[in-house]
Amino acid sequence: MKILIINSGSSSIKFQLMEMPSETLICNGLVERIGYKNATISYKANGDNLHQTHTIETHRQGLERVVELLLDPEKGVITHTNDIKVVGHRVVHGGNSFSDTTLITAEVKEKIQEYAALAPLHNPGNLEGILVAEEIFPAAKQVVVFDTTFHQTIPAKAKRYAIPTSLYEVHGIQVYGFHGTSHQFVSEKAIAYLGLKSSKIITIHLGNGCSMTAVLDGKSIDHSLGFTPSNGLIMGSRSGDIDHAIIFHLVNHLNYSLDEVKTLLTNQSGMLGLTGHMDLRDIQAEAENKNKECQLALSMNAYRIKKYIGAYTAAMNGLDAIVFTAGIGENSSVIRQLACEDLEVLGIILDSSKNDKRSAELREINTAESKVKILVIPTNEELEIAKQAFELVE
Ligand code: ADP
Repeated sequence: MKILIINSGSSSIKFQLMEMPSETLICNGLVERIGYKNATISYKANGDNLHQTHTIETHRQGLERVVELLLDPEKGVITHTNDIKVVGHRVVHGGNSFSDTTLITAEVKEKIQEYAALAPLHNPGNLEGILVAEEIFPAAKQVVVFDTTFHQTIPAKAKRYAIPTSLYEVHGIQVYGFHGTSHQFVSEKAIAYLGLKSSKIITIHLGNGCSMTAVLDGKSIDHSLGFTPSNGLIMGSRSGDIDHAIIFHLVNHLNYSLDEVKTLLTNQSGMLGLTGHMDLRDIQAEAENKNKECQLALSMNAYRIKKYIGAYTAAMNGLDAIVFTAGIGENSSVIRQLACEDLEVLGIILDSSKNDKRSAELREINTAESKVKILVIPTNEELEIAKQAFELVE
């Protein structure tokens, strides 16, 4: 069964075509800069790697261009759009309405629209991808996997904020959690690798957005992002945890508007705000050249991760493994080393030479004496969506 996975963002569409249940990747690619002058499409299939620049004004045009490539007599991988039996969509926010992967109906789309208020950067683009895919693939079943679903198991003591109860009951203000497909995918891999019946794992997803999850016996019981994807770790351009009184100070004493504060904390803070760079590779290179701001930013980033490792070890009363994943988690030996430094007290001891080796496979980077396994596991959110969509329609 061919399943097309679509991860449609505000100005991009990531896609991946999989044969299930064999989990064979048929092709994948990315449309970027939708709505800008030089939109680009990259497409990988049959060992070929194609890169094109186009004018792509809308998600519809982007997806139509993808379909042309899929159907192309030379580079294509299908002969008819009906060859695709299922389209699996990633949607960031499903609020409290979805505790499972779901077939898309009019009510589901309404909910995704409703939750756009909570994820304004993500849900509108996600919904646009669904609407266009429904027209282009009318014969396919459309399935949605929410980033929030994996975190539905977080208990009240961890998901509630200490603000008046009515704000939770009437307005749904609580921790929702994000990157759920990634945390689920790597925690399942880790559990299979460890071969434990009962397990205490911390998954650390470090990409442009960053988050950590305490996974007890396969279930999320706490998570560092909250009501929106802005809490917790220091991210590419998001601050993560700050004292909320800073917001009042910016508004009341430094003449910021609320919109300006939002832009500041979402787009101008984090590693970008600390160093002027968002890409961790640039920051690492500068730090090697003795740039003090970049060195400090790396230490701050790793220190925040360490604090959450401590917190989640306490939350689970123990720890079997920590798992690093996503762009930074899989590739930055520097962040892994700094985050694991001086954690012998928790039984975490990194093996530097293993840490420095590069590989695209699951790997263990702790020493033999380390009580806790330190794992690097490449995430694959698209495969997780394909697996869940396949299970639902099978
Ligand atoms: P997204 O959240 O957009 O999916 P990714 O998981 O692709 O993000 O991660 C993007 C981040 O990964 C960027 O900050 C980039 O600097 C970082 N990254 C990618 N490769 C490396 C590398 N070799 N070393 C350090 N950081 C890397």
